[in-house]
Amino acid sequence: MVLKTTAALRAARHINRLTRPSYSPLFFRTISTTQKTPASLATERVSSQHVPAPHTPPPQPPNFSKEFTFGAYQTTGTATVNTIRYPKFQSLEAERAFRKLHHAAALRWLGYQGYNNEGAGGHVTVRDAILPDHFWINPHGKSFSWMRPEDLVLMGPDGDIVDGQGGNMHSVNPAGWVIHSAVHEARPDVIAAVHCHSIPSKAFSSLGCRLEPINQDACRFYNDHGMYSGFGGIAFKADEGKHIAAALGNTKGVILQNHGHLTVGKTVDAAAFLFGAMDRCIQAQLLADAACAGRGTSTVKVAHEEAEYTRNVYNDEMAYIMFQSGFEDVVRASNGEFPLHVQGEIPRE
Ligand SMILES: [Zn+2]
Repeated sequence: MVLKTTAALRAARHINRLTRPSYSPLFFRTISTTQKTPASLATERVSSQHVPAPHTPPPQPPNFSKEFTFGAYQTTGTATVNTIRYPKFQSLEAERAFRKLHHAAALRWLGYQGYNNEGAGGHVTVRDAILPDHFWINPHGKSFSWMRPEDLVLMGPDGDIVDGQGGNMHSVNPAGWVIHSAVHEARPDVIAAVHCHSIPSKAFSSLGCRLEPINQDACRFYNDHGMYSGFGGIAFKADEGKHIAAALGNTKGVILQNHGHLTVGKTVDAAAFLFGAMDRCIQAQLLADAACAGRGTSTVKVAHEEAEYTRNVYNDEMAYIMFQSGFEDVVRASNGEFPLHVQGEIPRE
């Protein structure tokens, strides 16, 4: 009886604490432990094996139309906040200058990431804003880490290096022309393509397998990258470029067997970000598979629906935004040589 009374008193005190108006720290702690936070909801969701994960909107297929897909990054709440958005331009000349600045910055960033070690074999191309059947490419043998917009070379649809449009009259890697001209021709929606040789992709591309959805970042490439399994020697012949473009298909990247990998995007920022992201996913899969081999187990894969949903969150603007911290690193490291913006660049609201 005594015990029952004590329990009743405790319950009454508890209810009183929950219902009375109070702003003591204790009150907030008491309430917060009973509320469902996003983290606790996520835990519940993971632990529930029978309830399908609720999310909207439904997954959409990869969008590789010519239209640039924008995100809506106004955060929750009512406060007006600044966001990073892909800009608009007052003129095609301004857009050309913007693409060249970001092209050179992407090359510098790749250099900082260590892809410069075999820079003579790596190439980044960006479709020209004024002459859309032309593209800009890095000159052969020039350090990625010191690239400037004025170093870039403009190539015409026949493989000629074009004079009179502000391009550098310097030779380019013939393999760069073969591979990238085929990709740009096959994919009119692609603005930029990135290809370098990294140690992880040199190892991974010899295994004859694709990226698997073993983590959130790898879901970016879920059912959205190709595999070219017919290595035809160093890409000096036009056929090799066509085969690579065909294996890329309508995806955002391709594993080149016994070679490396290549990524594409609707901005050079996106293509460069995806190149690094794909390389790190490749490295993670190599690590995880090696660990599994030692343990006699296999990796746990993200389920199909969640992998597709995650992939589709990464629209064109998201891929552009993901690179902007790298762009900032390059601009700051240039000590005033590179501007943050070009003349005629209009912020998007
Ligand atoms: Zn190569």
